[in-house]
Amino acid sequence: MDQKIKEAKKQKVVRYIFKNQRLFLLINKVKLWPSRSGMLHGVKSIENRSKTMVVTTHCGESFVVWDSKNCRSARWLRNRWYKNPCKKCKIPEWKLMKYSQTVFTDARR
Ligand SMILES: [Zn+2]
Repeated sequence: MDQKIKEAKKQKVVRYIFKNQRLFLLINKVKLWPSRSGMLHGVKSIENRSKTMVVTTHCGESFVVWDSKNCRSARWLRNRWYKNPCKKCKIPEWKLMKYSQTVFTDARR
């Protein structure tokens, strides 16, 4: 019995995120933002404004994003397309690890 619990704890926790949901929910879960230049920023806060949202990164940038399931940022986020994590944002290693292990699934389509 104890052995079983230990085994379960040893297993990696894989996070599942459903692809076909609002970009807001995606960002809200991963707390990362892929910029157009290929930089991955850490998201400090995100504000929901029905059709748009305001994303603020840890390096102090703030911008309004159209909330769409299939926009560039949603695709880049799901496909993990980025070149470098932002140095100013200081994204912790565990966060990048967690992100790399996240499974984006369309199971609930
Ligand atoms: Zn940044």
